Amino acid sequence: MVNKIKNLFTPRLLICTNCASKIEEGDRFIAHITMPAEKKMLVSRMDQAIARTANRVICEKCQ
Ligand SMILES: [Zn+2]
Repeated sequence: MVNKIKNLFTPRLLICTNCASKIEEGDRFIAHITMPAEKKMLVSRMDQAIARTANRVICEKCQ
């Protein structure tokens, strides 16, 4: 439980699942996301929410 909470506040980088490069401000990228249940939706910065929710993130170079 404590670890789970701690994990929620550890920033996670939004990285491409193909080439592992970081998605930076101004980058265009594709994210494949499974729509979570309303109760499980994350409320946080968008990049953090996507990094935690997305099945796949594809950067502009890999598209
Ligand atoms: Zn990539």
